[in-house]
Amino acid sequence: MSSNSNNSSVSVVVLGCGFGGVEVATELRKRSKSKSGKRIDITMIDRRTRFDYQAANPEILSGKVTPADISADLYSFANRIDAEFINDEVVDIDFSEKEVKTRTGTIPVPYDYLVIAVGGEQAFFGIPGAEERSHCINTLEGAVKTKEALDELEPGNSNSNSAMTIAVIGAGLTGVEVAGELVESRSDARVCLVERMPRILPAFPAPDIASFVTRRLMDRGVEILTGLAVEEVKDNEIVLSGQHGHRHRLPYDILIWTAGLKPGRLLERLKLPKVRGWIRVDPYLRVDGMSDVFAVGDNAYFEYDGIRSGQNVEEAEREGKIAAVNIIRTVKGDKLKRYKPKNTIQNPRAIISLGGNTAVIYACGRAFTIFGFGYKLKKFIEHRYMRRFRA
Ligand SMILES: Cc1cc2nc3c(=O)[nH]c(=O)nc-3n(C[C@H](O)[C@H](O)[C@H](O)COP(=O)(O)OP(=O)(O)OC[C@H]3O[C@@H](n4cnc5c(N)ncnc54)[C@H](O)[C@@H]3O)c2cc1C
Repeated sequence: MSSNSNNSSVSVVVLGCGFGGVEVATELRKRSKSKSGKRIDITMIDRRTRFDYQAANPEILSGKVTPADISADLYSFANRIDAEFINDEVVDIDFSEKEVKTRTGTIPVPYDYLVIAVGGEQAFFGIPGAEERSHCINTLEGAVKTKEALDELEPGNSNSNSAMTIAVIGAGLTGVEVAGELVESRSDARVCLVERMPRILPAFPAPDIASFVTRRLMDRGVEILTGLAVEEVKDNEIVLSGQHGHRHRLPYDILIWTAGLKPGRLLERLKLPKVRGWIRVDPYLRVDGMSDVFAVGDNAYFEYDGIRSGQNVEEAEREGKIAAVNIIRTVKGDKLKRYKPKNTIQNPRAIISLGGNTAVIYACGRAFTIFGFGYKLKKFIEHRYMRRFRA
């Protein structure tokens, strides 16, 4: 078994430097200084060189934020916390040899403890034409490309016979935020928000948030089409099917796909206990049945006592913290800390911006719209988070 360990140091390798991975590394360094006794060597690996604050990607479309505002260099960050950063794609892990293989690395990266935090990828559910013809904003790069396409869209070059049409597929949190930003910034276009379920924001159990947001978006000019599933995406039109198999055709100029998250290629490859492709973790965030491999953030599946963690920023950060604490406790031989999610599938909470510097807060099964406060709070959280990367 290859490893970096010796009597005085332990090596932790963190795969993925999104919200979960960055939190693991930050917390490990903070705690290892005072508490572990052994030196912790941290290696962070990501296929991108920059951290993206994905939750602000919808505002790239309206130009309210720039890529520089909501991203940060991972080399500098790693340097600041005395970690090593490797910019490469992880392609495989040998759990018995305790080694990580990257696409271009000639030598595998050894670890004593491993944290898998590679998030998820956009799902297209095999719908013909969807992946090839859609713009996606789940990465900053995708959001920037979508903005460029929107900037090229002018009345003279519309595909649709009537008004220029921007179709947003999926009316979860991201789709709703995208529609809000578009209707604010592209008053010259028709913005259609399409949802397969009977109402928008289906992941939020209380229906009052859906009716409030529907009203707010419709008042501002968004067309909301619910109960319609995308069957096929053609060059200039989307084929939708509704109840009783009725077909609808929606002409479009730009299609922005926000529906669905799936495990990425690396997860598909790894032979680990999984639920629907996501890595199943124990109450301490170790991969089920393993003592040296943890999983946090969107790629982890945590469900205990009927409570399932949500795939959101809040839980990715909370899980990152607990995983770091538990690595240090394992090194010291201490009792591990249980993870208790707060922002769960059963009881989700979120601040959903609706464009026009407004946002609705959803918590404890209720929607709150304290005028102007929700959006200010969302931006405050974003600025406070990004401060950790600034010199
Ligand atoms: C547009 C958008 C808006 C959102 N808005 C909100 C919101 O308002 N509130 C909220 O709570 N949540 C929101 N979310 C969800 C939130 O962003 C995720 O839950 C969160 O990012 C999960 O963190 P993570 O660390 O698990 O994964 P990520 O933040 O996705 O990070 C994963 C990292 O792993 C890297 N990676 C992946 N595969 C590999 C590989 N094979 N090798 C190397 N590196 C790899 C990626 O490059 C990435 O940096 C939003 C998501 C999107 C896409």
